[in-house]
Order: sequence, then C-alpha cells, then structure tokens
Amino acid sequence: MILLLFGPPGCGKGTQAPMLSERLGLPAISTGELLRQAAKQDAAAGRAIDELLAQGNLASDEVVNALLEARLAEADCKDGFLIDGYPRTVEQASHLLDLLDQLQHERPVLIHLDVPEQVVVERLSARWNCPDCGAIYNVLTKPPMLAGHCDADAKALVQRKDDTVETARKRLAAYRALTDPVLAYFESSEAGAVVHVNGNQAPEEVFADIKQRLEREVFAFVRKQRRA
Ligand code: AMP
Repeated sequence: MILLLFGPPGCGKGTQAPMLSERLGLPAISTGELLRQAAKQDAAAGRAIDELLAQGNLASDEVVNALLEARLAEADCKDGFLIDGYPRTVEQASHLLDLLDQLQHERPVLIHLDVPEQVVVERLSARWNCPDCGAIYNVLTKPPMLAGHCDADAKALVQRKDDTVETARKRLAAYRALTDPVLAYFESSEAGAVVHVNGNQAPEEVFADIKQRLEREVFAFVRKQRRA
C-alpha cells in the first residue's frame, strides 16, 4: 500500500506517520526529514537548505524529487511505504505517479488531515523536539515531564528554526498556494484515492479515524477490482 499523509505543517503528520508505519509495517518517509539529513551531510548544500527551511520556503522540486527517488529505491520500500510531506506541488505529484509506474506500485491513497489554521499556528510555535532521539513535545498538549528536557534521554530540547509564529504563517501560505492544486489534482483524477480526516482531535482519535477510513478504502478498491 502506498500512503501519502497530507495536510498543513503542524497538522499532526509527524505524529501519525510512526503510528501508521508500525501498524501497517510500512517504512515512513518524511521529505522534511530527508532535507534535514541532507543538510547535515554536506556543509555547503546544508547551509543553503538550512536557510530555506528557516525562512519557511519550499525546497525546489528538483532537490526533493531526487532525494525521494533515492529513498524509494531502497529495499525496504519494495512492498509499499508511507510518505509524509510529499507531494507538495503538482510537479512533484506528477513525478511521483511516474515513479510509482516505473517501480510497478499501485496508485496511492492520500490521507488529508484537516486542521483549522489558528490551531496549526498555535501548535507549530509550541513544538519542541529532542536533537538526539527526535522525540516531539508540545508545551500546550504534550509537555515533557521535566520542562525543557527529553523524557527518553534527558537531553535539552530544541525548537526547529521554522517553528516560530511568523514562519508558521508563511509556511501555511506556501502550503495553501502550492498544495491546494495538488489536492485538487488527486481529487479530480484517477491519480489516487483521497480521504479527509479530522486532524483537530487527540492523536489516538485521529489514528482510529484513519484506520477506519483505510479499511473502507481497501474494501472499495477490492469491490472496484471485482467489477472491472
Ligand atoms: P516538514 O518537516 O514536512 O514540515 O518540512 C519542513 C520543511 O522542509 C518545509 O517547510 C519545506 O521547506 C521543506 N520540505 C519538506 N517537504 C518538501 C517538499 N515535498 N517540497 C518542498 N519542500 C519541502
């Protein structure tokens, strides 16, 4: 199964991805994470990517497509995968469909997490994470046991450069401008199935809704295949 987790920054994709990945046994791939890793590995490219992320701008289609293509070629992706944060442009969507054809994968199911803008801005600027193990905390809804320190390894928590109110609004505007057409592209074509889930609830409730909707999608898919 190919799953695309979709929704504005801060909608909970990063929380749902590992839960879904574990339940479905699929590798979870985040293009934001691929970019952050690439930034760590190459000093010159790293500075450029770091600056881009700090300003809340999107990376170029060329860079993201190449990073994703390399990741999908890895062995653990052969039976399916879950992608969080991609495609964010129509260019990327069309590149992904070509890649799926080449790799002989089925069409993707796109899960859109719907969350009101104000909620997303509050969530983004309250987010802190552990620089070592990557655990994500939220000072409003999921604070660490000891303020400012990771529950798992006690390391001092840090805030991503792109998690400020101003940057959050910019990221949301970029998201809407570029990604609404991507959603429309999937909704109005045979490119894949689109499932909307209310992301403005507790993570366990969001997860339960996604599971229920996926089961329905799989049944609908099987029925369609039988009729064909
Ligand atoms: P995320 O971790 O998904 O919130 O992504 C963090 C940042 O990485 C985004 O604000 C973008 O600047 C960049 N990014 C992640 N995925 C993509 C993508 N598919 N296309 C372009 N830029 C991306």
